[in-house]
Amino acid sequence: MTRDDARALDRTDPLARFRDRFALPEGVIYLDGNSLGPLPRAVAPALADTVQRQWGERLIRSWNEGWIDAPQRLGAQIAPLIGAAPDEVIVGDTTSTHLFKALVAALRHDPARRTIVSEAGNFPTDLHIAEGAVACVPGARLKVVAREDLAAALDEDTAVLLLTHVHYKTAERFDLAAWTARAHAAGALMLWDFSHSVGAVPIDVTAANVDLAVGCTYKYLNGGPGAPAFLYVAKRLHDALANPVSGWMGHAEPFAFQDAYRPAAGMKRWLVGTPSILAMASLEAALALWTEVDQTAVAAKSAALFVILARAGAAAGLPCDTPADADQRGSHISFRAPHAYELTQALIARGVIGDFRAPDILRLGLTPLYLSHEDVWQAGEHLRDIIAIEAWRDPAFAVRNAVT
Ligand SMILES: *Cc1c(COP(=O)(O)O)cnc(C)c1O
Repeated sequence: MTRDDARALDRTDPLARFRDRFALPEGVIYLDGNSLGPLPRAVAPALADTVQRQWGERLIRSWNEGWIDAPQRLGAQIAPLIGAAPDEVIVGDTTSTHLFKALVAALRHDPARRTIVSEAGNFPTDLHIAEGAVACVPGARLKVVAREDLAAALDEDTAVLLLTHVHYKTAERFDLAAWTARAHAAGALMLWDFSHSVGAVPIDVTAANVDLAVGCTYKYLNGGPGAPAFLYVAKRLHDALANPVSGWMGHAEPFAFQDAYRPAAGMKRWLVGTPSILAMASLEAALALWTEVDQTAVAAKSAALFVILARAGAAAGLPCDTPADADQRGSHISFRAPHAYELTQALIARGVIGDFRAPDILRLGLTPLYLSHEDVWQAGEHLRDIIAIEAWRDPAFAVRNAVT
C-alpha cells in the first residue's frame, strides 16, 4: 500500500466527517483510543455549562433539573450500543465496582451454585474483583482456567461465567451468543465485560440473551479519564437480583430518609451513592455523537485499518497476536517484540501514540471515528522505519513510566 492508496480510501470513507468532532493535537497519530479516548469537541462547552450555570447559578436546584436522573439518562444512551432496552442500563461508579456488585448478586442468586468461572489472563481487575467477591460470600469460590478449558469448567456448581468480550492484550473476541448459551446450558448466569468492545464492535445483548454486562466509557466511547462505567441487567432479572452495595441512591425512596434499606425497582437499585455530575456531563457530551454513527461502517473501517497495520508489522518481521479473522477480534492490534516497551516509546517520540502491555506487547488501537487510513499507513511506515534503523535502541526509550 502507498500513501496514495490510503488517501483514496479516505476520500470514500463514510466516517471521515467525524474526525472534526474531536480535538486532536497537531502532529499526533493517536492509536491509544482503546485505553483513553480523545477529547470530543462537545465536552468542554458542556462541562463549562455544568460548572458555571448548573452548579454556579442553579446550585442545588440542578438536582431536580436533570442531575438526579443522569445515571438512567446516560444508561439509555449507551443501551443501543449494546443492543439493550433503554431501562436495562445504568451509568455510575467504575467498571470494577459494577463487576463486584454483579458478581456478588450472581453468587447470591442461587445458593446451590457457588462458583465463579473466569479466564486466566482476563483483565486483572476482573480477576481481582472476583477474588474479592468470593471472599464476601460463604462457600463461594473462583475457578480461573485457560480459554481452552472454559467449556469443561462449567458445571452444576457454576453460578456465573465472567468473560471479557474482547481481550485487552490480543484483541481476541469471544462469540457472544455461543458462550452465553454455554453458560445457560450449565444453568449459570453470563456476565460480560464489554470494556474493550463497546464502541468498537457490534454487540447485541438481547439477541444473545445475555444476563449481565459491565463496561468502560473512557475507552472507545471517549467519555473522559475515569468516566463512569455502565451496568446492564436483563429485564427478566431486575427483581431477582440484589445490589450488595446497598446505598441510599439505590433505595426505593432515598428522600424518605428511612433506616431500613428497600431496593428501588428496575436499574435504579444498582446505584450506590451520589453520582459524579461533572464526570457524567463529560460522558453525556461524548455520547451524543454515537446516535449518528453506523456501527457497520465502524466495523468495516476497523477491518481496513487493521489490514494496513498488519501488513506493516509483517513487513517489519513482528509476530502478531491478534486474529486475522475480523469476526474473531476487537479493534486493536497487538504485536509481540522483545523490546516492545522501547518500540512503543520510539513511536511516541515520533507522535505515534500506542501503548505497551507487559511483558512484550506493542498495542495499537484502531478507532475509525477519528483515524484516517493515511494516519494508520503513516504509523505503519514509522513502525517499519524504527525497526529497520533500530531507532528503539536509544537508551532514552528504556526509561520506564508508571503508566505504560
Ligand atoms: C479498562 C478495563 C477495565 C477498567 O476498570 P476500571 O474499574 O474502570 O478501572 C475493566 N475491565 C476491562 C476488561 C478493561 O479493559
